Amino acid sequence: MRKYVGVSVLILALCLAFASCGGSKAKTYSGELFAMDTYITYSVVTADEAQAEAALEAVEEAFTRVDALTGRFTAGSDVSRINENAGVGPAEVGADTLTIVELALEWAARTDGAFNILLGGVSDLWGFNSEDPAVPAEEALAEALLHTDQSKIVVDAGASTVFLPEAGMVLDLGGVAKGYATDLAAAALRELGVENALINAGGNVYVMGTKEDGSPWRVGVQDPRDSQALTAVIEAEGKALVSSGDYQRYFEMDGVRYHHIIDPATGQPAPLCSGTTVVADSAAVADILSTALFVKGPEAGVALAESLPEADGALLIDRDGRITLSTGMDQFLSEKQ
Ligand code: ADP
Ligand code: MG
Repeated sequence: MRKYVGVSVLILALCLAFASCGGSKAKTYSGELFAMDTYITYSVVTADEAQAEAALEAVEEAFTRVDALTGRFTAGSDVSRINENAGVGPAEVGADTLTIVELALEWAARTDGAFNILLGGVSDLWGFNSEDPAVPAEEALAEALLHTDQSKIVVDAGASTVFLPEAGMVLDLGGVAKGYATDLAAAALRELGVENALINAGGNVYVMGTKEDGSPWRVGVQDPRDSQALTAVIEAEGKALVSSGDYQRYFEMDGVRYHHIIDPATGQPAPLCSGTTVVADSAAVADILSTALFVKGPEAGVALAESLPEADGALLIDRDGRITLSTGMDQFLSEKQ
């Protein structure tokens, strides 16, 4: 026994001395993809080329699959069929869609309704997904807001169906689907034995292990008012870091910025924040919270984050650029920018 241990230690030592030994030097393999209306980039660090190829494929598969299920403007997607059947009857959906809807409803309750997956009709009135967004008429907005009571959504887990009981209800999973897909991708990487990776789906970031040189992954938090500047740099391992901002999708009219994160209480773009970043184990939860905390604003948002065991940290930037950190956030902030 002892002999074997000695031999393997020696081989390891030789490999370390000659880093190229047996092709065992870890390399970075990267891929990119446009899905879920987002530019998605990902890298895995491994010495095993076949593992790298399988890993890049698995990440692409996760995002493509969730996109096909949850795309609101994708014909035949689960979400399209749920919406077509609003006020008509239950729509049968895949297991992933069911899980996302259940998770979203749990967090809708835990964020006092700040997270709301029935704002599709309101978003459509603003036209954030169209070529010509505009401020909607007040009456139209008031009418759309009448169909945003999430407690009325009927989920039948046994039958795997989702039912929106009122015509005019429009399901929109845009605030959680990318995070969920990021979790699926990370789980697929772990299953393949990948230890070092970074996935970035439009601000939904997941980091595993380290970079090729052994140093931690560093993720910049964009300054909401300067696309070339960073508000902070985060270092983490085995965590999701998800950001939401009023700079991703917006239009300006008469000097006012109208953006795509809606306050469910008013139907208006949430006015208190310009950016939020949440660190958590789950990218789906971090995605939900980055949107919900944005709606709540710095004070209530940080208080909520600090009360949630699922949130490791939160960074909120108000409309004037002031930063508020939750108590857990400090540990992830890098000194070096
Ligand atoms: P992004 O999708 O740009 O990364 P978010 O994760 O913050 O940004 O999600 C914003 C999207 O979520 C919107 O485009 C819309 O589809 C949906 N949404 C807007 N407001 C809310 C809200 N209060 N609760 C849940 N989803 C929302
Ligand atoms: Mg979100």
